[in-house]
Amino acid sequence: MPIYEYVCSECGLKFELLCSLNRASEGASCPRCHNAAERVLSTFVSRSKSDSGLTTSIGGNPCSSCSAISCDSCNL
Ligand SMILES: [Zn+2]
Repeated sequence: MPIYEYVCSECGLKFELLCSLNRASEGASCPRCHNAAERVLSTFVSRSKSDSGLTTSIGGNPCSSCSAISCDSCNL
């Protein structure tokens, strides 16, 4: 079974749970204060996703001095 990491939005406690996919979608409650905890995705996965998204949006815009993709003032 997969291990999921959660962070309590109330007290900030970090904890891990061994759980099924069904259980994971429901979220978990903090073992300390019993408030709703949010599931944390692996740092590696979420970071590589946002990095590639950023690179794509920058690379798709050849004009660096304005927000347009191509324009007369930049002579692209
Ligand atoms: Zn808590």
